[in-house]
Amino acid sequence: MENSFPWGHSRPFNSYNEYFKRTFGGRVQKLSIDAGFTCPNRDGSKGTGGCTYCNNDAFNPSYCTPQKSIRQQIEEGKQFHAWRYRRAMKYLAYFQAYSNTHAPLNILKEKYQEALSDPDIIGLVIGTRPDCINEEKLEYIASLAKENYIIIEYGIESVYDRSLEKINRGHSWDEAKKAIQMTAAFGIRSGAHFIFGLSGESRQEMMEMSTLINELKLDTIKFHQLQIIRNTPMAKEYQIYPEQFEFFNEEEYIRFISEFTSYLNSDIVIERFSGEAPPPFVIAPDWGRIRADEILRKIENYMIGNHLWQGKYVSRPSVNDNKTAF
Ligand code: SF4
Repeated sequence: MENSFPWGHSRPFNSYNEYFKRTFGGRVQKLSIDAGFTCPNRDGSKGTGGCTYCNNDAFNPSYCTPQKSIRQQIEEGKQFHAWRYRRAMKYLAYFQAYSNTHAPLNILKEKYQEALSDPDIIGLVIGTRPDCINEEKLEYIASLAKENYIIIEYGIESVYDRSLEKINRGHSWDEAKKAIQMTAAFGIRSGAHFIFGLSGESRQEMMEMSTLINELKLDTIKFHQLQIIRNTPMAKEYQIYPEQFEFFNEEEYIRFISEFTSYLNSDIVIERFSGEAPPPFVIAPDWGRIRADEILRKIENYMIGNHLWQGKYVSRPSVNDNKTAF
């Protein structure tokens, strides 16, 4: 079903898989790496408690540990994925754990170069915070982006400062906007992560986030329904004040995110519609053992059934106009 939607794509949203096929001409696998970085919200430079929802153990694959070299993690990552995909393939090193630009430039150079020295690694995905980047680091990353696929993924979570304060992010929406603007000015791709369902945000306010997100020069985006993860400050909060949390149930979320997507600029590639923490880590809400790919299928069906597509209600022109060619 080619070009079956008015906006010219074969799916009702700008899909990450298709973006990868367009960009690389085939399948490329991301390999998670824990390079031993910490985070300013944990090491005392900004705070010590971390974001209230954060438990990195819930997301780190078992082969990722900073005690192993980056090369070793890459090797083990390849083997981890080899049973599913038997063809030889190319990989992106995904610097995932904590804040992967939170170190002096010489350390960043060492770690990024170690990953890029593997002949099967064709680029980097660098997860970080908006307050862990500056012109010096961006200049260096831009130099890598001339010959490699590079994207910086920023955890942003909300456009509302009162929510960012409540979840103890330690940065403002304005700082997030500036980091993405600066990244785009250096010609580097950027991605962002947002959470829907933070306590104190109405559904209408969440829906309205699309307007501000559309103003960012973002390439990719990940969405996540709020989940309370074990061993986090939010888990304690939930135990004491459960009435302050209003979770999406699965059907509500599918409806919400489908409608939200129709207000989202169609240039932005959607990497994820929902989070998928391992069930033993999740305290609430209870969506059973449903996997993110099943939710994705339901969202797609909902959008098709309701004649929705990404950008349906957006009239503004395209914003991504100055990114690196590769
Ligand atoms: S979510 Fe990211 S920024 Fe927040 S505490 Fe965890 S690692 Fe640090």
